[in-house]
Amino acid sequence: MKESILVINCGSSSLKFAILANAGQDTLVEGIADRLGSDESSITFKYDGQKSQIPLKDSSHKNAVTHIKQWLNEHPAIESTLVGIGHRVVHGGETFSQSVLINQDVIDGIKDCAQFAPLHNPAHTKGIEIAFELFSGLPQVAVFDTAFHQTLTPEQYLYPIPMHFYREHHFRKYGFHGTSFRYISQKLAQVAKGSDQQGVLVAHLGNGASTCAIHHGQSSDTSMGITPLEGLMMGTRSGSLDPSLLSFISQAENISADEALEILYKKSGLLGVSERSNDCRTLEEAMDSGDQKAKLALDMFAARTAKHLVSVAITLDSIDHLVFTGGIGENSHYVRRTICHYLKAFNIRIDSTLNDNAPRGEIANISSTDSKTDVWIIPTNEEFMIALDTIRLIQH
Ligand code: AMP
Repeated sequence: MKESILVINCGSSSLKFAILANAGQDTLVEGIADRLGSDESSITFKYDGQKSQIPLKDSSHKNAVTHIKQWLNEHPAIESTLVGIGHRVVHGGETFSQSVLINQDVIDGIKDCAQFAPLHNPAHTKGIEIAFELFSGLPQVAVFDTAFHQTLTPEQYLYPIPMHFYREHHFRKYGFHGTSFRYISQKLAQVAKGSDQQGVLVAHLGNGASTCAIHHGQSSDTSMGITPLEGLMMGTRSGSLDPSLLSFISQAENISADEALEILYKKSGLLGVSERSNDCRTLEEAMDSGDQKAKLALDMFAARTAKHLVSVAITLDSIDHLVFTGGIGENSHYVRRTICHYLKAFNIRIDSTLNDNAPRGEIANISSTDSKTDVWIIPTNEEFMIALDTIRLIQH
């Protein structure tokens, strides 16, 4: 069997993992340890078409990684192929503009970036330290969500606030979903030769959502900011709005600014407008049975996505390709159609038959013949990208 990589995405209360072989092409096993830190935590393994769930008596991150190690001990044919571990890291600040082999300096650097990702980065460093302890001797690599956007120019990444906030505190746009955008850019170049020398727009639409403009293979602007709250309306996040609302909400509800921010993070977006769900599929079903608020939420989501696609497009010479990805972008023909309807002034048009019948999980070109832009659906694969970076870096 070929060499394999363990990919770990360690969050504050969950830990997702996968083992990929054959240069990231084959997923041998994947799973998630859920509700860590609570009484109901469990770990699930998906292997060989079977799903097995084990309750975790000790709901710590360390115990979750210990279970992965035990599972590997019971599957020596896979364990013997393991050559490295790749970690997804949300925030790399200005320190990390590409994936790196992890040493103590890197761990310290990730800790330094925690001020902008207080829930994520401490969980990542915890996951890295536990993995070093339990898989001693295996090289480990950190792959950052922000790294792909380090090519933005100051006109795009600076906020129009007093400059000392940037100089002293590094307050600026960082952007996220970079691993997904990088994957899409490379995948597109395989199916649309020359696209790495053209202008590409990508809408990554999942529970979290952002847009990215890619100029000649490099990120030139993106909708998320210093945190993943800016930009598009999302499952539970508001996205961009007038910052004054923060103080209006805290006054109206008699709550602190942090509590008001929590409302913008967790109770807004599709959930806040529909007053039903943050889940696109649930809202589409509700809309089909006549729920007008579900329809309004989906239409607002589409309108705001279109707006942020156009906004980042100003950094391109031309819009040669538009790619939809993420759970909503890949699966919702209603959302794709509505977004493209809002983009008609830019001559971006889709073929409704191709859009409605796009095969699930596959790359599809859904443009109409009169569209100036090629419109694509490309399923994203961040784990693949993490595995590939890990292999590349541990071979040096
Ligand atoms: P992600 O965060 O990329 O996993 O995407 C999650 C989002 O994708 C949720 O809002 C899901 O409802 C949505 N989604 C997944 N499958 C479908 C589908 N078949 N139709 C519409 N939305 C979907």
